[in-house]
Amino acid sequence: MKRIGVIGGGQLAWMMAGAAKKLGVELVVQTPSRNDPAVPISAEDNVFAPIDDANATALLAKRSDVITFENEFVDIEALSKLAQQGVCFRPRLEALAPLLDKYHQRCYLRDLGLPVPRFVAIEQKWNTTTEVIFTSQIGFPAVLKARRHGYDGQGTFIIKEIESLKQKLELHSTEKVGSQSHFLLEEFIPFERELAVIAARSVNGEVCTFPIVETQQEEQVCRRVIAPADISSKVTLEIENIASALLNSLEAVGVFGIELFLTADGKVLVNEVAPRTHNSGHFSIDACETSQFEQHLRTVCGMHLGNTSMICPGAVMVNLLGYEISQSDYMIKRQQIEQIPQAHVHWYGKTESRPGRKLGHVTVLLDTQNWDQAMAISRRQDSERIARNIESIWYPQ
Ligand code: ADP
Repeated sequence: MKRIGVIGGGQLAWMMAGAAKKLGVELVVQTPSRNDPAVPISAEDNVFAPIDDANATALLAKRSDVITFENEFVDIEALSKLAQQGVCFRPRLEALAPLLDKYHQRCYLRDLGLPVPRFVAIEQKWNTTTEVIFTSQIGFPAVLKARRHGYDGQGTFIIKEIESLKQKLELHSTEKVGSQSHFLLEEFIPFERELAVIAARSVNGEVCTFPIVETQQEEQVCRRVIAPADISSKVTLEIENIASALLNSLEAVGVFGIELFLTADGKVLVNEVAPRTHNSGHFSIDACETSQFEQHLRTVCGMHLGNTSMICPGAVMVNLLGYEISQSDYMIKRQQIEQIPQAHVHWYGKTESRPGRKLGHVTVLLDTQNWDQAMAISRRQDSERIARNIESIWYPQ
């Protein structure tokens, strides 16, 4: 494999560049805008079109040996025709198909015997039948999710009582966007922590996970990742087993991100699966022998998996999220953050900042010097202290 076509040209594709260079492969992207992050790092014959434009993907296929995804919101049905004509997709489309709709994804995981929150699918029109189903199976608080096209907490709402649920459904019926006419409703999990794992599966069926991390969300958006998570070996094993069961069942080739809840009594539940590299794995660029991006390209090229061990005792990753509408490149703040010992700033080069938009991230590698015997707890405290420092530089007071 010499040339990899990537559907999507955002920061995830941009972060594949270093790995592509190392492995001696070229990237070419399909992305809507010439200003998208991955455009400068990929070949000159990129395809500029929306990611769900299958005709554009046909063109991308002509310009590459294999196609992979940075973004899964594609038109699977239209792409299937290309697959029938011999276009090679990694992961294969069948591994993506059950995951694109949050309700289908929950059903797939449940049918595989994996632990998930209790859930139901609901129609937009609220009626007595829906109310009976909801009250008997879910109850309050509940979490309402748009079945499709949700990301970074967009389309996810925590609902405390029936009136606000009805209101949300009504509001969305008037501003109906595309296929968002249906929702998934599930029990609210009072988790003790949120965890995530990046897992890879090779063409030969070899599965390998990265160290499990703790993720910290605010208003449903990931703010920080602490690697590795301070969890028992039992929980670690359970999560590794979930990852292998899932990737083997999907016969997936590629890297997948799996988000999980850990409850106070040690129960693990799967929240969400993304069939691609994931924000929770960004720490691996600086903190692991092999990054998630290299691992992904290795699977796509049919190579053996790389070693996923960390090269340091711990790491903390902090997302740099937009907090205003602006065209600034925030150079001064970035330089200030770079002064933090062992800090690696990754700036995605987006031309416009908007509240909540991921503009970059910073990973700080930790060493053990300041930790006492209760190392894991101190690592978490240390990570949170560093994260607070970064956030106090980045966000206006
Ligand atoms: P997205 O696909 O937009 O990232 P998620 O389904 O991952 O949305 O939800 C985003 C965040 O919302 C989660 O990381 C978690 O903090 C919270 N959340 C989602 N579902 C639940 C749930 N069932 N119980 C408690 N919190 C939840």
